[in-house]
Amino acid sequence: MDSVIRRLDEAVVNRIAAGEVIQRPANVIKEMIENCLDAKSTSIQVIVKEGGLKFIQVQDNGCGIRKEDLNIVCERFTTSKLQKFEDLASISTYGFRGEALASISHVAHVTVTTKTADAKCAFRATYSDGKIKAPPKPCAGNQGTQIMVEDLFYNVNTRRKALKNPNEEYAKILEVVSRYAIHNSGISFSVKKQGDTVSDVRTLSNASTVDNIRAIFGNAVSRELIEVGCEDANLAFKMKGYITNANYSVKKCIFLLFINHRLVESAAMRKAIETVYTAYLPKSMHPFLYLSLEIAPQNVDVNVHPTKHEVHFLHEDSILERVQQHVESKLLGSNSSRMYFTQTLLPGVDCSSSGVVQSAANSSVITKGTSDKVYAHQMVRTDSREQKLDAFLQAVNNPLSAGPTEVITEVNARPPESSGRPQDTEMQDLSDLVEIADVQEDTVKPGGLSESEHFSPQTLPSRKRPWEDMDVELEKNYTRKNMTAACTPRRRIINLTSVLTLQEEISNQAHAKLQEMLHEHSFVGCVSPQWALAQHQTKLYLLNTTKLSQELFYQILIYDFANFGVLRLSEGNLTGLPFLIDNYVPPLEGLPMFILRLATEVNWDEEKECFESLSKELAIFYSIRRQYIIEESNSTNSQNEDSESGSTTWKWTVEHVLYKAFRTHLLPPKHFAEDGNILQLANLPDLYKVFERC
Ligand code: ADP
Ligand code: MG
Repeated sequence: MDSVIRRLDEAVVNRIAAGEVIQRPANVIKEMIENCLDAKSTSIQVIVKEGGLKFIQVQDNGCGIRKEDLNIVCERFTTSKLQKFEDLASISTYGFRGEALASISHVAHVTVTTKTADAKCAFRATYSDGKIKAPPKPCAGNQGTQIMVEDLFYNVNTRRKALKNPNEEYAKILEVVSRYAIHNSGISFSVKKQGDTVSDVRTLSNASTVDNIRAIFGNAVSRELIEVGCEDANLAFKMKGYITNANYSVKKCIFLLFINHRLVESAAMRKAIETVYTAYLPKSMHPFLYLSLEIAPQNVDVNVHPTKHEVHFLHEDSILERVQQHVESKLLGSNSSRMYFTQTLLPGVDCSSSGVVQSAANSSVITKGTSDKVYAHQMVRTDSREQKLDAFLQAVNNPLSAGPTEVITEVNARPPESSGRPQDTEMQDLSDLVEIADVQEDTVKPGGLSESEHFSPQTLPSRKRPWEDMDVELEKNYTRKNMTAACTPRRRIINLTSVLTLQEEISNQAHAKLQEMLHEHSFVGCVSPQWALAQHQTKLYLLNTTKLSQELFYQILIYDFANFGVLRLSEGNLTGLPFLIDNYVPPLEGLPMFILRLATEVNWDEEKECFESLSKELAIFYSIRRQYIIEESNSTNSQNEDSESGSTTWKWTVEHVLYKAFRTHLLPPKHFAEDGNILQLANLPDLYKVFERC
């Protein structure tokens, strides 16, 4: 290699320069779309082949190019949009340097077909290295311009090799076109692959910006949009757009930024807005943003880079701050309708945050931590031990007994004082409707334990069954209500290894913090038959009652194995079902499915597997379900009762039967903390952080 400096061939110089402007097919398309928009088109159609590397065609219905101009459109620095350097400052069209078409023609074969309004026909010309190859030929054509770009980078080996993946290029093209489509509502856009009949992006000329966002990014984004808009005369800027509220988040920020109608990047702007969202979105989640800024042209330096991507402007910091403030105010305003889907909890995971506070009976608070001062955000104003009055009431029309099979109403072995509830004439105990027979047919001594006695936080997390204390506790608890039907005094002792192993598996799986939460929770209310809210300390939880009740019944079945009362049925060959907890009859319309599954789902061959799968099936059958409630209100309606009482009774059952039992009889398995069956919705200290911003 010699060291003589030589002048480069002009064609090579042009090619290098072109490569600066045109780096990939999406750049070509962006330039061409901007030209279409400058030409006042209302319809822009893009067709590509091999991600634009083989073929790009952009067709518009704009003003067209005059025949006399066709000779020079592909020469550098020919433009119909700028005459003097000073004009650069006030430019409002996209193109201004007359560089795009020229650059493209240096690295691809370009064919232009165009017709202006007053021309009698269209003209076609082809270009290479900035020059027209032959005089324009008349041809048929509609008003507007169609530009074809073939074999992009045919003469730039390195670039062609770098762009090996047509799918990736096509994705970039779709991204560019769809962004321009959103920004230019009122103009229809479409993109498709050559030969395809269906477009991959398509917007209509009568669609709104939000319609276009919906068409391109989907409903999940479009339904959570907040319209934004602000302006500042001193800073000479206007901003408008749409941003998602705190309900929406994605792993990667989607940011559509237009400055003076040109798609640009601004790392500073992105950062400024993302900072605002960190207070609203879960960690490492991001929003969707579409912003259009109009800044006095003389303040914008678009001449930064040939690809005109990254933009800078005068008063950048002040403008960013104003936009930031506006976004913040809009997000706060939309916070009232916030929904919680994404924040999964692990109770106890961040118990480090601000000293744990426990409630005391007199509603004053005591801190466990070192500091004596209790801040407002640490205060707990509920006491789980408080009973609500309605716990003692129960509607007459007890739907727990409603179902296809009538349950015989006969009590034999039930102790008269076993219920601590006052018996109102209008209120009826379930035990009057359901026969409860002792398995052992023996006369029974009344008894049972209150949950607070057989289960205290100190004993957590080991599970303590009522009967373990039975011998000592029995006599002094006459007036206490039994929680489970297994609290019969003559208890069968189970020494089956299979059952003992299953019991051990349950206790090994228990999540201590969740158990503590369930034990001490205050019931807030039912969201639906399946979901309920509960408070524990400063946190609010959403719990899957169906799944928790299923687990509860499974555990009762395993722990109280062979020690159940009987729910006697009046019809057919099925004479009874295990009576698992007071005041609860399984939704009997699930019976046929249960029987069927006994045949198909239960392993009758191995002892342990049999007990386990049988108990699992029973637990599914016993769990409270949506269908149960629907049946319930139907049957209530058919009896001409108002459906209100139907809904109050299932709610009563959820609160006073199921959640009461969860307190003492459920060892919540660890997976409940991870699979969304128990979700932490809010934490008081975090809410204070949000309200501080108001
Ligand atoms: P610029 O847009 O900076 O002027 P271009 O190289 O992109 O430079 O385009 C050169 C000229 O070609 C434009 O000024 C315009 O007169 C003409 N032109 C290009 N595309 C179109 C089109 N789709 N419709 C009408 N005129 C066009
Ligand atoms: Mg242009």
